[in-house]
Amino acid sequence: MTMVSSKVHHTGFDRLCRYAEILRFGDVHIKFDHHTGLRAIVAIHNLKRGPAIGGCRLAPYATTDDALEDALRLARMMSFKAAINNLPHGGAKSVIMMPKVIHDREAFFETFGSFVNELGGRYITAVDSGTGAVDMDVIARKTKFVTCTTLSGNAGDPSPLTALGVRRAIEAAVKFKLGRDTVDGVHVAIQGAGHVGYYLAQELKKLGARLTVCDVNPKSLQRCVDEFDASTCAPDEIYDIKADVFAPCALGSVLNLANIKRLNVKIVAGSANNQLAHHKHGMALHERGILYAPDFLINAGGLIHVAVIYDHADMDTAQKQISDIYYTVTDIFERAKRENLPTNEIAESIALSRLIKAPQFDCESQ
Ligand code: NAD
Repeated sequence: MTMVSSKVHHTGFDRLCRYAEILRFGDVHIKFDHHTGLRAIVAIHNLKRGPAIGGCRLAPYATTDDALEDALRLARMMSFKAAINNLPHGGAKSVIMMPKVIHDREAFFETFGSFVNELGGRYITAVDSGTGAVDMDVIARKTKFVTCTTLSGNAGDPSPLTALGVRRAIEAAVKFKLGRDTVDGVHVAIQGAGHVGYYLAQELKKLGARLTVCDVNPKSLQRCVDEFDASTCAPDEIYDIKADVFAPCALGSVLNLANIKRLNVKIVAGSANNQLAHHKHGMALHERGILYAPDFLINAGGLIHVAVIYDHADMDTAQKQISDIYYTVTDIFERAKRENLPTNEIAESIALSRLIKAPQFDCESQ
C-alpha cells in the first residue's frame, strides 16, 4: 500500500461529505443532464418517519459546493420541522443550479421529474423559491412523487399558511408569557414585510394588534402603513423597539449576542429560518427572560399544508393542523419552564429523539 501524503488536504467535497455525516444524512443524489442543462441535487436527510418531503429550489449558485451545502442545510431543517410537527415524513430538499439560460423549461422540469421518479418514492418534491405550481405540473408528467401542482389548491404560495402558524405561535406565547387570551392591543414589531411578514401583519391587525414594521424595501413598508396603519422604523432600530413581541420575518441569523442585549420585548416569534446566529443564543434569550418560539416549529405551516395535501387530506385538515401549532409550542414553553432550559433546546431534542426512535420507513411499499 502506498501512502500518497501524510498531510490531509480537504477538498470542498471532502468537507461537505463530513458535514453530511455530522448532520446524520441518509443519502444525497446528483443529476447532470447535458441535453437540458439540468444540474440538480436531492439531499435526503431522514426516512425514518416516512417518505422525505421538501421543496425544489431553483437558484443561482456560484459553485456545486455552494448548492450542495444549501441542500444539506435545508434538508436537515425539513426533517426537524416534520418531526416536531408530528408529520409522517422525513426531510429532504432539492436544489437546481440555475443555468444562464433555460432553453426549454418544460424539458428541464420533465428531466427533473424523471430524476425524482428514479428515487422510487424516497423523495417527494414541492414548490420552493424559483419554482411554481406550473413547474410541478410538468414534473407530475414523470412522477407521482410531487405535490403543489395547480390541482393541489393554494399550493403556489405557502406564505399565508406560514403566517397562520406564526400567528398561532404568537397567540400561544402571549397567553403563556403575558397571561392574555388574545393579541388585541398587543404590540408586535415585525422585521421584514415580504410574503410572510405582510400576511402576518394582516392576520394580527384583524385581531386588534398594534404593529411596528421595518423593511429595506420602501414599497413593502408603505403597503403595511396604508393597509394596517402600521408604525415604521429603520431596519437597525427594530431591535430597540419597546414592544411585546419581536417577529423576525426577513433573514436568518439575525439574533446575535449584541442585539439580544438590545431587545426590549418579552417574546420572539417569527417566520425566518435559523433566527439564532448560533443555537447557544437560545440560552441568552432564556437568561434575559425572553420567551423564544422555536423557528423551525412555528414556520412549518407551508410544509404541513404540502404534506397534508400529498397525503390526500383536505385544506380544512391542513388549516387545523397548522392552527394546532398553538398547542405544540405551548407544550414546549411549559417543558422549558419546568426544566429551566431554552425552548430551542427542548424543541431540538424532541425532534431529534423522534428522528432516532421512529421505525425505518419502507419506500418499497409506496
Ligand atoms: P420575502 O423575501 O418575501 O420577504 C423578506 C422581506 O424582508 C423582504 O420584503 C425584504 O425586503 C425584507 N428584508 C430583507 N433584509 C431586511 C433587513 N435587513 N431588515 C428588514 N427587512 C429586510 O421572504 P418570505 O417568503 O416572506 O420569508 C421570510 C422569512 O421566512 C425567510 O427567512 C424565509 O426563509 C422564512 N420562511 C418563509 C416561508 C414562506 O412560506 N414564505 C416558510 C418558512 C420560512
